Amino acid sequence: MKRIKQLEENLINQIAAGEVIERPASVVKELVENAVDAGATKISVEINNECRNIRVADNGSGIHKEDIPLAFSRHATSKISQQNDLWNISTLGFRGEALASIISVSKVTCTTRTSESSVGYKAECENSKVNITKTGCAQGTIIEIKDLFYNTPVRLKFLKKAQTEFAYILEIMQSIAISHPEVAFTLMHKDRTSLKTTGSKDIETVISEVYAKELINELTIIDKEDPASSMQAYGVASTPEYTRSNKKAIYTFINGRTVKSPVIQKAIDMAYSDLIPSGRYPFVIISLTIKPDEVDVNVHPSKKDIRFTNTNLVYSFVHSSVKQALEKSFSQVKPIKEQQPTFSNKQANPILEEESSFIPVQEKTDFAIFNKAPTVTIQEETVEQTTLRISTLQTDEEAKKFNIIGQFRNTYILIDSENGLQVIDQHIAHERYLYEQLLEKKEKNEQIASQLLFTSNVIELEPSDISLVEENQNRLEMLGYKFEFLSEKEVIFRQIPQLIAGKQPEAVIGELLEALKGNLEDIDNQILITTSCKAAIKAGEKLSIWQMEELLRQWSSTKHPQTCPHGRPISHTIPEKEVAKFFGRSV
Ligand code: ADP
Ligand code: MG
Repeated sequence: MKRIKQLEENLINQIAAGEVIERPASVVKELVENAVDAGATKISVEINNECRNIRVADNGSGIHKEDIPLAFSRHATSKISQQNDLWNISTLGFRGEALASIISVSKVTCTTRTSESSVGYKAECENSKVNITKTGCAQGTIIEIKDLFYNTPVRLKFLKKAQTEFAYILEIMQSIAISHPEVAFTLMHKDRTSLKTTGSKDIETVISEVYAKELINELTIIDKEDPASSMQAYGVASTPEYTRSNKKAIYTFINGRTVKSPVIQKAIDMAYSDLIPSGRYPFVIISLTIKPDEVDVNVHPSKKDIRFTNTNLVYSFVHSSVKQALEKSFSQVKPIKEQQPTFSNKQANPILEEESSFIPVQEKTDFAIFNKAPTVTIQEETVEQTTLRISTLQTDEEAKKFNIIGQFRNTYILIDSENGLQVIDQHIAHERYLYEQLLEKKEKNEQIASQLLFTSNVIELEPSDISLVEENQNRLEMLGYKFEFLSEKEVIFRQIPQLIAGKQPEAVIGELLEALKGNLEDIDNQILITTSCKAAIKAGEKLSIWQMEELLRQWSSTKHPQTCPHGRPISHTIPEKEVAKFFGRSV
Protein backbone atom coordinates (compact mmCIF):
# COMPACT_ATOMS: atom_id res chain seq x y z
CA MET A 1 0.00 0.00 0.00
CA LYS A 2 1.24 3.51 -0.87
CA ARG A 3 1.48 6.24 1.80
CA ILE A 4 -1.53 8.52 2.43
CA LYS A 5 -1.49 12.03 0.94
CA GLN A 6 -3.90 14.96 1.37
CA LEU A 7 -5.60 15.58 -2.01
CA GLU A 8 -5.15 18.88 -3.77
CA GLU A 9 -8.17 21.24 -3.59
CA ASN A 10 -9.04 21.21 -7.29
CA LEU A 11 -9.01 17.42 -7.32
CA ILE A 12 -11.31 17.29 -4.27
CA ASN A 13 -13.69 19.63 -6.05
CA GLN A 14 -13.57 17.56 -9.22
CA ILE A 15 -14.46 14.44 -7.27
CA ALA A 16 -17.39 16.28 -5.71
CA ALA A 17 -18.35 17.62 -9.15
CA GLY A 18 -18.71 14.02 -10.27
CA GLU A 19 -21.82 13.82 -8.14
CA VAL A 20 -23.36 17.22 -8.73
CA ILE A 21 -22.26 18.18 -12.22
CA GLU A 22 -23.06 15.30 -14.48
CA ARG A 23 -23.73 17.19 -17.70
CA PRO A 24 -24.42 20.72 -19.02
CA ALA A 25 -28.02 20.52 -17.80
CA SER A 26 -26.78 20.06 -14.21
CA VAL A 27 -24.79 23.30 -14.47
CA VAL A 28 -27.87 25.09 -15.76
CA LYS A 29 -29.95 23.66 -12.93
CA GLU A 30 -27.53 24.76 -10.21
CA LEU A 31 -26.99 28.25 -11.63
CA VAL A 32 -30.65 28.93 -12.28
CA GLU A 33 -31.62 27.63 -8.84
CA ASN A 34 -29.05 29.99 -7.30
CA ALA A 35 -30.61 32.87 -9.22
CA VAL A 36 -34.10 31.89 -7.98
CA ASP A 37 -32.76 31.68 -4.40
CA ALA A 38 -31.27 35.16 -4.88
CA GLY A 39 -34.81 36.48 -5.41
CA ALA A 40 -34.37 37.27 -9.12
CA THR A 41 -37.48 38.17 -11.12
CA LYS A 42 -35.65 37.90 -14.46
CA ILE A 43 -33.32 35.07 -15.35
CA SER A 44 -31.84 34.56 -18.78
CA VAL A 45 -29.81 31.60 -19.91
CA GLU A 46 -27.69 31.38 -23.06
CA ILE A 47 -26.21 28.16 -24.38
CA ASN A 48 -23.47 27.91 -27.02
CA ASN A 49 -20.47 25.84 -28.08
CA GLU A 50 -22.14 22.41 -28.09
CA CYS A 51 -23.72 23.18 -24.71
CA ARG A 52 -20.28 23.70 -23.15
CA ASN A 53 -20.63 27.49 -22.82
CA ILE A 54 -23.38 28.51 -20.44
CA ARG A 55 -24.28 32.04 -19.37
CA VAL A 56 -26.85 32.73 -16.67
CA ALA A 57 -27.78 36.32 -15.86
CA ASP A 58 -30.13 37.39 -13.08
CA ASN A 59 -31.38 40.55 -11.41
CA GLY A 60 -31.28 39.04 -7.93
CA SER A 61 -29.50 40.14 -4.74
CA GLY A 62 -25.95 39.93 -6.10
CA ILE A 63 -23.07 38.63 -4.00
CA HIS A 64 -21.39 40.76 -1.35
CA LYS A 65 -17.76 41.60 -2.23
CA GLU A 66 -16.29 39.74 0.76
CA ASP A 67 -18.48 36.71 0.08
CA ILE A 68 -17.31 36.18 -3.48
CA PRO A 69 -14.34 33.91 -2.67
CA LEU A 70 -16.57 32.01 -0.25
CA ALA A 71 -19.27 31.50 -2.86
CA PHE A 72 -16.74 29.54 -4.90
CA SER A 73 -15.33 27.47 -2.08
CA ARG A 74 -16.73 24.21 -0.84
CA HIS A 75 -19.18 23.99 2.03
CA ALA A 76 -19.76 27.72 2.00
CA THR A 77 -23.35 28.85 1.74
CA SER A 78 -25.54 31.75 2.78
CA LYS A 79 -28.56 29.51 3.04
CA ILE A 80 -28.04 27.52 6.22
CA SER A 81 -25.80 28.18 9.18
CA GLN A 82 -26.62 25.71 11.95
CA GLN A 83 -27.70 22.13 12.25
CA ASN A 84 -31.33 23.01 12.92
CA ASP A 85 -31.54 24.84 9.59
CA LEU A 86 -30.98 21.58 7.80
CA TRP A 87 -34.49 20.50 8.82
CA ASN A 88 -36.05 23.76 7.76
CA ILE A 89 -34.81 24.38 4.26
CA SER A 90 -36.83 26.76 2.14
CA THR A 91 -34.23 27.56 -0.54
CA LEU A 92 -33.36 25.38 -3.53
CA GLY A 93 -29.68 25.22 -2.64
CA PHE A 94 -28.03 24.68 0.76
CA ARG A 95 -25.08 22.33 0.30
CA GLY A 96 -22.71 25.07 -0.80
CA GLU A 97 -20.87 22.92 -3.29
CA ALA A 98 -22.30 23.70 -6.72
CA LEU A 99 -20.12 26.71 -7.59
CA ALA A 100 -17.01 25.05 -6.13
CA SER A 101 -17.69 22.01 -8.28
CA ILE A 102 -18.37 24.04 -11.40
CA ILE A 103 -15.12 26.05 -11.19
CA SER A 104 -13.15 22.83 -10.91
CA VAL A 105 -14.39 21.56 -14.28
CA SER A 106 -14.74 24.76 -16.35
CA LYS A 107 -13.50 28.32 -16.75
CA VAL A 108 -15.87 30.67 -14.94
CA THR A 109 -16.38 34.42 -14.88
CA CYS A 110 -18.80 35.88 -12.35
CA THR A 111 -19.88 39.51 -12.50
CA THR A 112 -21.97 40.65 -9.58
CA ARG A 113 -23.26 43.71 -7.71
CA THR A 114 -25.46 44.05 -4.66
CA SER A 115 -27.92 46.94 -4.27
CA GLU A 116 -25.82 48.48 -1.46
CA SER A 117 -22.68 48.66 -3.55
CA SER A 118 -22.06 51.30 -6.21
CA VAL A 119 -19.46 49.16 -7.99
CA GLY A 120 -19.60 45.61 -9.17
CA TYR A 121 -16.98 42.88 -9.03
CA LYS A 122 -15.68 40.41 -11.50
CA ALA A 123 -14.34 37.07 -10.35
CA GLU A 124 -12.36 34.97 -12.80
CA CYS A 125 -11.96 31.35 -11.78
CA GLU A 126 -9.84 28.58 -13.23
CA ASN A 127 -8.62 25.36 -11.62
CA SER A 128 -10.33 26.40 -8.38
CA LYS A 129 -8.31 29.68 -8.24
CA VAL A 130 -10.35 32.91 -7.98
CA ASN A 131 -9.14 36.35 -9.08
CA ILE A 132 -11.36 39.36 -8.21
CA THR A 133 -11.35 42.82 -9.86
CA LYS A 134 -13.71 45.85 -9.82
CA THR A 135 -16.10 46.43 -12.69
CA GLY A 136 -19.22 48.39 -13.56
CA CYS A 137 -22.40 46.29 -13.87
CA ALA A 138 -26.12 46.14 -13.14
CA GLN A 139 -27.45 44.75 -9.88
CA GLY A 140 -27.58 41.00 -9.94
CA THR A 141 -25.25 38.26 -11.01
CA ILE A 142 -23.96 36.99 -14.34
CA ILE A 143 -22.16 33.67 -14.34
CA GLU A 144 -20.40 32.63 -17.53
CA ILE A 145 -19.11 29.12 -17.96
CA LYS A 146 -16.63 28.40 -20.77
CA ASP A 147 -15.45 25.03 -22.04
CA LEU A 148 -17.24 22.83 -19.55
CA PHE A 149 -15.22 19.66 -18.76
CA TYR A 150 -12.14 21.02 -20.60
CA ASN A 151 -9.91 19.42 -17.91
CA THR A 152 -11.92 16.23 -17.39
CA PRO A 153 -11.61 14.42 -20.74
CA VAL A 154 -13.60 11.38 -19.60
CA ARG A 155 -16.61 13.49 -18.69
CA LEU A 156 -16.31 15.29 -22.00
CA LYS A 157 -16.26 12.01 -23.88
CA PHE A 158 -19.46 10.87 -22.23
CA LEU A 159 -21.43 13.90 -23.35
CA LYS A 160 -24.12 13.12 -25.90
CA LYS A 161 -24.79 15.06 -29.11
CA ALA A 162 -25.30 18.80 -28.48
CA GLN A 163 -28.94 18.44 -29.53
CA THR A 164 -29.52 15.81 -26.86
CA GLU A 165 -27.67 17.73 -24.17
CA PHE A 166 -29.74 20.76 -25.07
CA ALA A 167 -32.92 18.72 -24.75
CA TYR A 168 -31.91 17.96 -21.14
CA ILE A 169 -31.31 21.66 -20.56
CA LEU A 170 -34.68 22.58 -22.00
CA GLU A 171 -36.37 19.98 -19.83
CA ILE A 172 -34.77 21.39 -16.68
CA MET A 173 -35.66 24.94 -17.68
CA GLN A 174 -39.28 24.03 -18.43
CA SER A 175 -39.56 22.39 -15.09
CA ILE A 176 -38.04 25.34 -13.16
CA ALA A 177 -40.12 27.81 -15.19
CA ILE A 178 -43.44 26.16 -14.39
CA SER A 179 -42.59 25.85 -10.72
CA HIS A 180 -41.76 29.58 -10.62
CA PRO A 181 -44.46 31.43 -12.56
CA GLU A 182 -43.37 34.62 -10.78
CA VAL A 183 -40.01 34.67 -12.56
CA ALA A 184 -39.51 35.68 -16.22
CA PHE A 185 -37.20 33.13 -17.83
CA THR A 186 -35.54 33.14 -21.24
CA LEU A 187 -33.50 30.33 -22.71
CA MET A 188 -31.45 30.97 -25.85
CA HIS A 189 -29.68 28.29 -27.80
CA LYS A 190 -27.33 29.46 -30.54
CA ASP A 191 -29.17 32.82 -30.72
CA ARG A 192 -32.56 31.20 -30.97
CA THR A 193 -35.15 31.58 -28.21
CA SER A 194 -36.23 28.17 -27.01
CA LEU A 195 -38.24 29.21 -23.99
CA LYS A 196 -39.67 32.48 -22.79
CA THR A 197 -41.96 33.14 -19.88
CA THR A 198 -43.24 36.52 -18.72
CA GLY A 199 -43.23 36.08 -14.95
CA SER A 200 -47.00 36.50 -14.90
CA LYS A 201 -47.36 34.67 -11.54
CA ASP A 202 -50.24 32.76 -13.10
CA ILE A 203 -49.92 28.98 -13.57
CA GLU A 204 -52.16 28.81 -16.65
CA THR A 205 -50.23 31.57 -18.37
CA VAL A 206 -46.90 29.94 -17.66
CA ILE A 207 -48.15 26.57 -18.93
CA SER A 208 -49.27 28.15 -22.19
CA GLU A 209 -45.88 29.87 -22.48
CA VAL A 210 -43.91 26.71 -21.84
CA TYR A 211 -46.15 24.25 -23.68
CA ALA A 212 -48.60 24.62 -26.54
CA LYS A 213 -51.57 26.92 -25.90
CA GLU A 214 -54.13 24.21 -26.70
CA LEU A 215 -52.98 22.15 -23.74
CA ILE A 216 -54.86 24.47 -21.38
CA ASN A 217 -58.20 23.18 -22.67
CA GLU A 218 -57.28 19.66 -21.59
CA LEU A 219 -56.50 20.53 -18.01
CA THR A 220 -58.32 20.78 -14.73
CA ILE A 221 -57.02 22.64 -11.68
CA ILE A 222 -55.69 20.86 -8.61
CA ASP A 223 -56.26 22.94 -5.53
CA LYS A 224 -56.50 21.35 -2.11
CA GLU A 225 -55.54 22.12 1.42
CA ASP A 226 -55.38 19.93 4.48
CA PRO A 227 -55.68 22.14 7.56
CA ALA A 228 -54.65 19.35 9.93
CA SER A 229 -51.23 18.79 8.34
CA SER A 230 -51.12 22.25 6.70
CA MET A 231 -50.23 20.53 3.42
CA GLN A 232 -51.26 22.26 0.22
CA ALA A 233 -51.45 20.98 -3.33
CA TYR A 234 -51.74 23.24 -6.32
CA GLY A 235 -51.36 22.54 -10.00
CA VAL A 236 -53.05 21.06 -13.03
CA ALA A 237 -54.05 17.59 -14.19
CA SER A 238 -55.13 16.52 -17.65
CA THR A 239 -58.62 15.08 -18.04
CA PRO A 240 -58.71 11.37 -18.96
CA GLU A 241 -59.37 12.15 -22.63
CA TYR A 242 -55.92 13.63 -22.96
CA THR A 243 -53.08 11.19 -22.51
CA ARG A 244 -49.47 10.95 -23.59
CA SER A 245 -47.18 8.08 -24.36
CA ASN A 246 -44.38 9.00 -22.00
CA LYS A 247 -44.17 9.64 -18.32
CA LYS A 248 -42.10 12.76 -18.69
CA ALA A 249 -45.09 15.07 -18.42
CA ILE A 250 -45.59 14.49 -14.73
CA TYR A 251 -43.94 17.27 -12.78
CA THR A 252 -43.76 17.21 -9.04
CA PHE A 253 -42.52 20.08 -6.92
CA ILE A 254 -42.16 20.19 -3.21
CA ASN A 255 -41.73 23.60 -1.66
CA GLY A 256 -40.69 24.90 -5.08
CA ARG A 257 -38.08 22.22 -5.68
CA THR A 258 -38.30 19.76 -8.58
CA VAL A 259 -38.29 16.27 -7.14
CA LYS A 260 -38.71 12.75 -8.38
CA SER A 261 -40.75 10.97 -5.78
CA PRO A 262 -41.96 7.41 -6.33
CA VAL A 263 -44.59 7.95 -3.63
CA ILE A 264 -46.11 10.93 -5.41
CA GLN A 265 -45.79 9.24 -8.79
CA LYS A 266 -47.69 6.23 -7.48
CA ALA A 267 -50.41 8.39 -5.96
CA ILE A 268 -50.95 10.12 -9.31
CA ASP A 269 -50.93 6.82 -11.24
CA MET A 270 -53.53 5.42 -8.90
CA ALA A 271 -55.76 8.46 -9.25
CA TYR A 272 -55.89 7.79 -12.99
CA SER A 273 -55.73 4.01 -12.84
CA ASP A 274 -59.27 3.19 -13.92
CA LEU A 275 -59.62 6.18 -16.20
CA ILE A 276 -56.88 5.88 -18.80
CA PRO A 277 -55.50 2.89 -20.72
CA SER A 278 -52.35 1.28 -19.38
CA GLY A 279 -49.25 2.51 -21.15
CA ARG A 280 -50.70 6.00 -21.47
CA TYR A 281 -49.85 8.82 -19.08
CA PRO A 282 -51.49 12.05 -18.02
CA PHE A 283 -50.01 15.52 -17.95
CA VAL A 284 -49.77 16.61 -14.35
CA ILE A 285 -48.07 19.47 -12.59
CA ILE A 286 -48.41 19.27 -8.86
CA SER A 287 -46.78 21.65 -6.49
CA LEU A 288 -46.90 20.65 -2.85
CA THR A 289 -46.29 22.84 0.11
CA ILE A 290 -45.28 20.79 3.11
CA LYS A 291 -43.81 22.01 6.39
CA PRO A 292 -40.05 21.93 5.77
CA ASP A 293 -39.49 19.76 8.84
CA GLU A 294 -41.74 17.08 7.32
CA VAL A 295 -39.37 16.46 4.40
CA ASP A 296 -35.73 15.55 4.15
CA VAL A 297 -34.19 16.94 0.99
CA ASN A 298 -30.64 16.13 2.00
CA VAL A 299 -30.58 12.56 0.72
CA HIS A 300 -28.94 13.10 -2.66
CA PRO A 301 -26.24 15.54 -3.89
CA SER A 302 -28.40 16.87 -6.72
CA LYS A 303 -31.29 17.21 -4.24
CA LYS A 304 -33.73 15.48 -6.57
CA ASP A 305 -34.62 12.72 -4.13
CA ILE A 306 -36.63 13.41 -1.07
CA ARG A 307 -37.85 11.61 2.04
CA PHE A 308 -41.03 12.26 3.98
CA THR A 309 -41.61 11.96 7.69
CA ASN A 310 -45.11 10.67 7.03
CA THR A 311 -45.17 8.91 3.67
CA ASN A 312 -48.74 7.62 3.96
CA LEU A 313 -50.10 11.04 4.64
CA VAL A 314 -48.38 12.49 1.57
CA TYR A 315 -49.57 9.59 -0.57
CA SER A 316 -53.21 9.92 0.37
CA PHE A 317 -53.15 13.71 0.18
CA VAL A 318 -51.74 13.71 -3.36
CA HIS A 319 -54.08 10.92 -4.43
CA SER A 320 -57.17 12.72 -3.16
CA SER A 321 -56.06 16.08 -4.57
CA VAL A 322 -55.76 14.65 -8.08
CA LYS A 323 -58.95 12.60 -7.76
CA GLN A 324 -60.86 15.64 -6.60
CA ALA A 325 -59.61 17.68 -9.58
CA LEU A 326 -60.66 14.91 -11.98
CA GLU A 327 -64.09 14.57 -10.43
CA LYS A 328 -64.56 18.31 -10.75
CA SER A 329 -63.76 18.03 -14.45
CA PHE A 330 -66.37 15.28 -14.91
CA SER A 331 -69.10 17.40 -13.42
CA GLN A 332 -68.32 20.20 -15.86
CA VAL A 333 -70.27 18.45 -18.59
CA LYS A 334 -68.83 19.10 -22.01
CA PRO A 335 -68.98 17.45 -25.42
CA ILE A 336 -66.80 14.42 -25.70
CA LYS A 337 -63.51 14.92 -27.47
CA GLU A 338 -61.71 12.53 -29.76
CA GLN A 339 -59.79 9.81 -28.01
CA GLN A 340 -56.03 10.04 -28.14
CA PRO A 341 -53.91 8.54 -30.92
CA THR A 342 -52.82 5.06 -29.87
CA PHE A 343 -56.32 3.85 -29.63
CA SER A 344 -57.61 5.75 -32.63
CA ASN A 345 -60.88 4.66 -31.26
CA LYS A 346 -62.87 7.18 -33.16
CA GLN A 347 -65.38 4.71 -34.45
CA ALA A 348 -67.11 4.69 -31.10
CA ASN A 349 -67.34 8.43 -30.65
CA PRO A 350 -69.53 9.58 -33.52
CA ILE A 351 -72.31 7.25 -32.48
CA LEU A 352 -72.26 8.48 -28.96
CA GLU A 353 -72.08 12.00 -30.23
CA GLU A 354 -74.90 11.46 -32.64
CA GLU A 355 -77.22 10.11 -30.01
CA SER A 356 -76.46 12.71 -27.40
CA SER A 357 -73.82 15.32 -27.80
CA PHE A 358 -73.50 15.64 -24.05
CA ILE A 359 -72.44 12.70 -21.99
CA PRO A 360 -73.68 12.67 -18.41
CA VAL A 361 -71.17 12.31 -15.61
CA GLN A 362 -71.44 8.60 -15.00
CA GLU A 363 -71.40 7.64 -18.64
CA LYS A 364 -68.38 9.70 -19.37
CA THR A 365 -66.36 7.78 -16.82
CA ASP A 366 -67.61 4.53 -18.27
CA PHE A 367 -66.71 5.68 -21.70
CA ALA A 368 -63.09 6.06 -20.68
CA ILE A 369 -63.11 2.51 -19.43
CA PHE A 370 -64.87 1.30 -22.53
CA ASN A 371 -62.08 2.80 -24.57
CA LYS A 372 -59.53 0.53 -22.99
CA ALA A 373 -58.00 -2.26 -25.02
CA PRO A 374 -60.32 -5.26 -25.30
CA THR A 375 -59.83 -8.15 -22.97
CA VAL A 376 -57.76 -11.07 -24.16
CA THR A 377 -60.71 -13.42 -24.21
CA ILE A 378 -62.58 -11.45 -26.83
CA GLN A 379 -59.48 -11.17 -28.93
CA GLU A 380 -58.69 -14.88 -28.90
CA GLU A 381 -62.18 -15.78 -29.90
CA THR A 382 -62.16 -13.38 -32.79
CA VAL A 383 -58.79 -14.42 -34.11
CA GLU A 384 -59.90 -17.99 -34.43
CA GLN A 385 -63.21 -17.26 -36.02
CA THR A 386 -62.00 -14.68 -38.47
CA THR A 387 -59.27 -16.97 -39.66
CA LEU A 388 -61.90 -19.51 -40.57
CA ARG A 389 -63.91 -16.94 -42.39
CA ILE A 390 -60.95 -15.56 -44.28
CA SER A 391 -59.89 -18.96 -45.52
CA THR A 392 -63.14 -19.07 -47.44
CA LEU A 393 -62.41 -15.77 -49.19
CA GLN A 394 -59.66 -16.98 -51.44
CA THR A 395 -60.67 -15.80 -54.89
CA ASP A 396 -62.28 -12.67 -56.27
CA GLU A 397 -65.17 -14.74 -57.40
CA GLU A 398 -65.83 -15.85 -53.87
CA ALA A 399 -65.14 -12.44 -52.49
CA LYS A 400 -68.23 -11.22 -54.28
CA LYS A 401 -70.32 -13.57 -52.26
CA PHE A 402 -69.93 -11.73 -49.02
CA ASN A 403 -73.54 -12.20 -48.09
CA ILE A 404 -73.76 -8.70 -46.75
CA ILE A 405 -76.83 -8.21 -44.61
CA GLY A 406 -76.31 -4.49 -44.27
CA GLN A 407 -74.76 -1.79 -42.18
CA PHE A 408 -75.50 -1.36 -38.50
CA ARG A 409 -75.39 2.18 -37.11
CA ASN A 410 -73.45 3.25 -40.20
CA THR A 411 -70.43 1.74 -38.47
CA TYR A 412 -70.51 -2.05 -38.62
CA ILE A 413 -70.93 -4.28 -41.63
CA LEU A 414 -73.09 -7.32 -40.92
CA ILE A 415 -72.43 -10.54 -42.78
CA ASP A 416 -74.36 -13.76 -42.95
CA SER A 417 -71.29 -15.97 -42.59
CA GLU A 418 -70.73 -19.67 -42.47
CA ASN A 419 -70.15 -19.52 -38.74
CA GLY A 420 -72.84 -17.16 -37.73
CA LEU A 421 -73.56 -13.49 -37.69
CA GLN A 422 -70.31 -11.66 -38.42
CA VAL A 423 -69.92 -8.03 -37.37
CA ILE A 424 -67.06 -6.06 -38.93
CA ASP A 425 -65.91 -2.65 -37.83
CA GLN A 426 -65.68 -0.67 -41.06
CA HIS A 427 -63.16 1.87 -39.80
CA ILE A 428 -60.71 -0.63 -38.37
CA ALA A 429 -61.01 -2.99 -41.31
CA HIS A 430 -60.19 -0.17 -43.70
CA GLU A 431 -57.40 1.07 -41.48
CA ARG A 432 -55.80 -2.38 -41.53
CA TYR A 433 -55.85 -2.44 -45.33
CA LEU A 434 -54.41 1.07 -45.74
CA TYR A 435 -51.75 0.39 -43.13
CA GLU A 436 -50.52 -2.71 -44.93
CA GLN A 437 -50.43 -0.82 -48.22
CA LEU A 438 -48.29 1.90 -46.68
CA LEU A 439 -46.09 -0.61 -44.91
CA GLU A 440 -45.39 -2.41 -48.17
CA LYS A 441 -44.20 0.85 -49.75
CA LYS A 442 -42.02 1.60 -46.79
CA GLU A 443 -40.49 -1.85 -46.78
CA LYS A 444 -39.55 -1.36 -50.42
CA ASN A 445 -37.99 1.95 -49.40
CA GLU A 446 -40.38 3.85 -51.59
CA GLN A 447 -41.46 7.34 -50.68
CA ILE A 448 -45.11 7.52 -49.59
CA ALA A 449 -47.01 9.57 -52.19
CA SER A 450 -47.68 13.02 -50.88
CA GLN A 451 -49.59 16.12 -51.81
CA LEU A 452 -48.42 19.72 -51.75
CA LEU A 453 -50.53 22.09 -49.66
CA PHE A 454 -50.85 25.68 -50.78
CA THR A 455 -52.63 26.89 -47.72
CA SER A 456 -52.52 25.44 -44.28
CA ASN A 457 -52.97 26.74 -40.76
CA VAL A 458 -50.08 27.83 -38.59
CA ILE A 459 -49.60 25.36 -35.77
CA GLU A 460 -48.19 26.45 -32.48
CA LEU A 461 -45.96 23.91 -30.76
CA GLU A 462 -43.59 23.68 -27.84
CA PRO A 463 -40.05 24.61 -28.94
CA SER A 464 -38.81 21.16 -27.93
CA ASP A 465 -41.42 19.63 -30.23
CA ILE A 466 -40.31 21.87 -33.07
CA SER A 467 -36.73 20.61 -32.64
CA LEU A 468 -38.07 17.08 -32.65
CA VAL A 469 -39.82 17.64 -35.97
CA GLU A 470 -36.72 19.35 -37.35
CA GLU A 471 -34.48 16.45 -36.36
CA ASN A 472 -36.82 13.98 -38.03
CA GLN A 473 -37.43 15.90 -41.25
CA ASN A 474 -36.03 13.22 -43.54
CA ARG A 475 -37.92 10.44 -41.92
CA LEU A 476 -41.18 12.41 -42.04
CA GLU A 477 -40.64 13.30 -45.68
CA MET A 478 -40.23 9.63 -46.62
CA LEU A 479 -43.55 9.02 -44.91
CA GLY A 480 -45.24 11.82 -46.82
CA TYR A 481 -45.10 14.74 -44.35
CA LYS A 482 -43.19 17.93 -44.98
CA PHE A 483 -43.07 21.01 -42.77
CA GLU A 484 -41.98 24.59 -43.01
CA PHE A 485 -40.58 26.17 -39.86
CA LEU A 486 -41.81 29.69 -39.21
CA SER A 487 -40.36 30.41 -35.78
CA GLU A 488 -39.20 28.51 -32.73
CA LYS A 489 -42.85 27.97 -31.80
CA GLU A 490 -44.63 27.73 -35.16
CA VAL A 491 -44.78 25.38 -38.13
CA ILE A 492 -47.04 24.74 -41.07
CA PHE A 493 -47.63 21.59 -43.09
CA ARG A 494 -46.23 21.86 -46.63
CA GLN A 495 -46.98 18.32 -47.75
CA ILE A 496 -49.14 15.53 -46.41
CA PRO A 497 -49.65 11.94 -47.58
CA GLN A 498 -51.98 11.72 -50.57
CA LEU A 499 -54.18 9.32 -48.66
CA ILE A 500 -55.20 12.06 -46.27
CA ALA A 501 -55.41 14.89 -48.79
CA GLY A 502 -58.52 16.88 -48.04
CA LYS A 503 -58.38 16.17 -44.31
CA GLN A 504 -57.34 18.75 -41.74
CA PRO A 505 -53.61 18.11 -41.33
CA GLU A 506 -53.50 19.88 -37.94
CA ALA A 507 -55.39 16.95 -36.51
CA VAL A 508 -52.44 14.60 -37.02
CA ILE A 509 -49.69 16.74 -35.54
CA GLY A 510 -50.27 15.52 -31.99
CA GLU A 511 -50.07 11.92 -33.08
CA LEU A 512 -46.95 12.51 -35.16
CA LEU A 513 -45.23 14.05 -32.14
CA GLU A 514 -46.30 11.17 -29.93
CA ALA A 515 -44.80 8.81 -32.49
CA LEU A 516 -41.54 10.76 -32.63
CA LYS A 517 -41.26 10.70 -28.86
CA GLY A 518 -41.97 7.01 -28.64
CA ASN A 519 -39.84 3.93 -29.06
CA LEU A 520 -37.13 4.62 -31.65
CA GLU A 521 -37.68 1.41 -33.60
CA ASP A 522 -41.38 1.96 -33.76
CA ILE A 523 -41.50 5.57 -34.95
CA ASP A 524 -42.09 4.89 -38.67
CA ASN A 525 -44.67 2.31 -37.85
CA GLN A 526 -46.58 4.61 -35.53
CA ILE A 527 -46.61 7.31 -38.18
CA LEU A 528 -47.99 4.88 -40.76
CA ILE A 529 -50.67 3.90 -38.27
CA THR A 530 -51.57 7.55 -37.78
CA THR A 531 -51.82 8.11 -41.53
CA SER A 532 -53.93 5.04 -42.12
CA CYS A 533 -56.20 5.82 -39.21
CA LYS A 534 -56.79 9.35 -40.49
CA ALA A 535 -57.37 8.12 -44.03
CA ALA A 536 -59.72 5.27 -43.21
CA ILE A 537 -63.50 5.42 -43.62
CA LYS A 538 -64.94 6.79 -40.42
CA ALA A 539 -67.45 5.17 -38.16
CA GLY A 540 -70.85 6.69 -38.74
CA GLU A 541 -70.29 6.98 -42.49
CA LYS A 542 -73.06 5.51 -44.59
CA LEU A 543 -71.78 3.01 -47.16
CA SER A 544 -73.46 1.56 -50.22
CA ILE A 545 -73.47 -2.22 -50.73
CA TRP A 546 -70.90 -1.72 -53.45
CA GLN A 547 -68.63 0.24 -51.09
CA MET A 548 -69.04 -2.40 -48.42
CA GLU A 549 -68.09 -5.12 -50.91
CA GLU A 550 -65.04 -3.16 -51.99
CA LEU A 551 -64.01 -2.63 -48.41
CA LEU A 552 -64.43 -6.31 -47.54
CA ARG A 553 -62.46 -7.29 -50.63
CA GLN A 554 -59.60 -5.01 -49.57
CA TRP A 555 -59.74 -6.19 -46.01
CA SER A 556 -59.75 -9.87 -46.90
CA SER A 557 -56.59 -9.33 -48.95
CA THR A 558 -54.61 -8.19 -45.89
CA LYS A 559 -51.98 -10.31 -44.22
CA HIS A 560 -53.40 -9.79 -40.75
CA PRO A 561 -57.12 -9.32 -41.08
CA GLN A 562 -57.86 -10.25 -37.46
CA THR A 563 -56.62 -7.19 -35.66
CA CYS A 564 -55.99 -3.53 -36.31
CA PRO A 565 -52.41 -2.21 -36.09
CA HIS A 566 -53.06 -1.31 -32.44
CA GLY A 567 -54.04 -4.89 -31.69
CA ARG A 568 -57.79 -4.42 -31.45
CA PRO A 569 -60.07 -6.99 -33.08
CA ILE A 570 -61.69 -6.06 -36.39
CA SER A 571 -64.46 -8.58 -36.56
CA HIS A 572 -66.64 -10.53 -34.20
CA THR A 573 -68.80 -13.50 -35.02
CA ILE A 574 -71.85 -14.42 -32.99
CA PRO A 575 -72.12 -18.17 -33.57
CA GLU A 576 -75.39 -19.34 -35.07
CA LYS A 577 -75.69 -21.76 -32.15
CA GLU A 578 -75.77 -18.87 -29.72
CA VAL A 579 -78.51 -17.09 -31.63
CA ALA A 580 -80.50 -20.30 -31.93
CA LYS A 581 -80.06 -21.15 -28.27
CA PHE A 582 -81.48 -17.80 -27.30
CA PHE A 583 -84.65 -18.62 -29.18
CA GLY A 584 -84.78 -22.16 -27.88
CA ARG A 585 -83.92 -23.76 -31.22
CA SER A 586 -81.35 -26.45 -31.85
CA VAL A 587 -78.91 -26.24 -34.76
P1 ADP B 1 -25.74 26.75 -2.35
O1 ADP B 1 -26.68 27.22 -3.39
O2 ADP B 1 -25.97 25.34 -1.96
O3 ADP B 1 -25.65 27.68 -1.19
P2 ADP B 1 -23.72 27.27 -4.31
O4 ADP B 1 -22.34 26.76 -4.49
O5 ADP B 1 -24.68 27.01 -5.40
O6 ADP B 1 -24.26 26.71 -2.96
O7 ADP B 1 -23.65 28.83 -4.06
C1 ADP B 1 -22.85 29.31 -2.98
C2 ADP B 1 -23.36 30.65 -2.50
O8 ADP B 1 -23.12 31.65 -3.50
C3 ADP B 1 -24.85 30.72 -2.25
O9 ADP B 1 -25.17 30.28 -0.94
C4 ADP B 1 -25.16 32.19 -2.46
O10 ADP B 1 -24.95 32.91 -1.28
C5 ADP B 1 -24.13 32.62 -3.49
N1 ADP B 1 -24.71 32.70 -4.84
C6 ADP B 1 -24.57 31.81 -5.84
N2 ADP B 1 -25.20 32.21 -6.96
C7 ADP B 1 -25.77 33.39 -6.67
C8 ADP B 1 -26.57 34.32 -7.41
N3 ADP B 1 -26.92 34.10 -8.68
N4 ADP B 1 -26.97 35.46 -6.78
C9 ADP B 1 -26.63 35.69 -5.48
N5 ADP B 1 -25.89 34.84 -4.75
C10 ADP B 1 -25.44 33.73 -5.31
MG1 MG C 1 -26.76 26.50 -5.28
